[in-house]
Amino acid sequence: MTADGATADGATAAGATADGATAAGVDVGGTRIKAVLRRGDVVLGRHVEPTPADIASTMGPTVARVLERLVASVEGAPAPQRVGLVVPGLVDEAGGHGVWSANLGWSDLDLRGALAVHVTPEVVIGHDVRAGLLAEHLLGAARGVDDVLFVPLGTGLAVALMTGGRVVRGSTWTGELGHVRVQPDGPECGCGRRGCLEVVAGATAVGRRWREAGRSGDASDVAAGVVAEDPVASTIWHEAVGFLAGALAPVVASAGTRLVVVGGGMAEAGPTLLDPLHAALTELLPDPDGVAVVRAALGEWAGAIGASHLAPTAPPAPPTADGADPVRATLSVTVPDLP
Ligand SMILES: [Zn+2]
Repeated sequence: MTADGATADGATAAGATADGATAAGVDVGGTRIKAVLRRGDVVLGRHVEPTPADIASTMGPTVARVLERLVASVEGAPAPQRVGLVVPGLVDEAGGHGVWSANLGWSDLDLRGALAVHVTPEVVIGHDVRAGLLAEHLLGAARGVDDVLFVPLGTGLAVALMTGGRVVRGSTWTGELGHVRVQPDGPECGCGRRGCLEVVAGATAVGRRWREAGRSGDASDVAAGVVAEDPVASTIWHEAVGFLAGALAPVVASAGTRLVVVGGGMAEAGPTLLDPLHAALTELLPDPDGVAVVRAALGEWAGAIGASHLAPTAPPAPPTADGADPVRATLSVTVPDLP
């Protein structure tokens, strides 16, 4: 973290230091909308309500109502001078679009446009997991660490990476590690393919395997079974941890990650998850002392807190003189023969 606050997507995070501004962050999730109001590092108020079924068509008025209720919940609170909104799935931060979300049922939703009609000031759009990483970096388990991998293990499985104090964002698919295929003949995934990391190592997958073994409950029951030395629970748990470590290790090694922060429902298992994950990563990585694995500190509020710290992203690179996409133009450049 630099003296003027950490960076999100290359921009300086707004209000990370004591500038006195009041900012709001809104996290629209698959089941609930969470919102925080803060001034500097102090959270003034929180608000949570169910996500309406028609959120894709009511985003503007819904967020406006959430902000009204949030401000009304704090006596004497001023209207926020900055507002950030984060959503799951594929997000085009610079363009302000929700590209795709399976849970919320939208594709190419103009979030910024929908909000502009109902909310002032202009709302900065972000991705829930990347915002969660920013919050953990500014205020939580990754405070003071600039090279961090954030791994929330909940219903889905997306990750966010910070290197040198910057949250990494390339294409809209950035962080979708959950849909990397790790078991070609594995179970079918919601994305239509087979054997994605999410369906062999996520909380939903662990709970499904437990029930397929004739037990009842979810991932938390498997964790309890591991503590009680139930062999079925241990097999399911450690296979999931093995797949997870196998997918995370190349990312950690490539980026020089110093700290893996694990969040989501599965992190509630604490050392039952963190210790074997650390052991499995250590076995795979070249530097046995290279990485620490800790539990996230901000829980389910990380996304909303991170949203309140978002700053506008830089506009996309301008097209080349002939109007071509600059990235595709670069990719099509002919590489000269090496001497
Ligand atoms: Zn998938």
